[in-house]
Amino acid sequence: MNDLSTLSKYPFLSASKKYVTENNLSVEEFLNDLIYERARTRGVERLDNAFNNRDVGNKSLVTDTDFIMELLSYPIARMIAVCIEDIYFKRRYALGEAIHAYKNLLNEPTSFLVDIIKEFNLNVEYDPNTYKISIYFVDYLRSAPTSYKEWKMINRDMEKGYIRISHKDLARIIQETLRNRINEELDGKICDKSICKVFSSDILRIQNIVAMHRKNIRTAPIGKLDKNKLPPCIRNILSAVQAGENVPHMGRFALVSFLHSLKLSNKEIMELFSTAPDFEEEKTRYQVDHITGSTSSTSYKPPGCEKMRTYGICSVEEIDELCRKKKHPLSYYTAKWSQEKPSS
Ligand code: SF4
Repeated sequence: MNDLSTLSKYPFLSASKKYVTENNLSVEEFLNDLIYERARTRGVERLDNAFNNRDVGNKSLVTDTDFIMELLSYPIARMIAVCIEDIYFKRRYALGEAIHAYKNLLNEPTSFLVDIIKEFNLNVEYDPNTYKISIYFVDYLRSAPTSYKEWKMINRDMEKGYIRISHKDLARIIQETLRNRINEELDGKICDKSICKVFSSDILRIQNIVAMHRKNIRTAPIGKLDKNKLPPCIRNILSAVQAGENVPHMGRFALVSFLHSLKLSNKEIMELFSTAPDFEEEKTRYQVDHITGSTSSTSYKPPGCEKMRTYGICSVEEIDELCRKKKHPLSYYTAKWSQEKPSS
């Protein structure tokens, strides 16, 4: 696990961090030495690729120097991502790193994945004789993408508290865990001014691209929906989804059922989710189809204000005068339309 090729492929591993520390490579050197120019260029490329392609991308690596530059480009990319100071961008970058790792992991032996998962403190058991892999159910619930139908506990075999998973599942769990870890780490860091200085033009360029992207999202029409008439609760959930913030299941449910009640098609609802930095088409389609009744026997109704409050998705600080008169987000929206009608 400690060879340079592996470290460059999985730069998030503790062995990769150790390599950088043990070789006494300082931020100062990364930023100014000519010999690290390639690592700096690749660091920026990781960010661009993550934003444009949802994958930080592959490089053809042959020599030890190639591997070292690839490895060092990871901390450089992270430092720049922090200085871009945009949650949407950070989420998209984290996903780009996680998806890249997932694709590589599919081609590794299972024992390698089991070693990695230990770094994330997840309890996984693997029997190399039978090739059986299982994960402790608490860790499964914590780290698996359980909003997918096939990941629901009910669709899994469990024995003595351990859930059977495949090699592909394990790689997917690592992807999810890595994405969350990078998100947390980036959120907890502040921008180093020396990074801003060295990468000022790239930071500005990416900030402009992200701002333009945001503007396109904000102004894009969603069917016949008038975003200006949305109640504060739905408006907040919508912006959180589109910014890549963590929206609880109930929030997503409220949003989809609300839009479905306003006769938006599933395609239109999907388009709205597709602007999220961590959009996953298959997962979203499953949720949308389920809530709107396309793949289930029930078409769910959006929750009323009381239920929204119970689930903590109605912010008391943000409710307005109209909210105080209404008991349901849908009646709020309808009332906003009525307010606009010219009085005869
Ligand atoms: S009071 Fe009702 S309509 Fe207003 S924000 Fe809360 S849940 Fe939404």
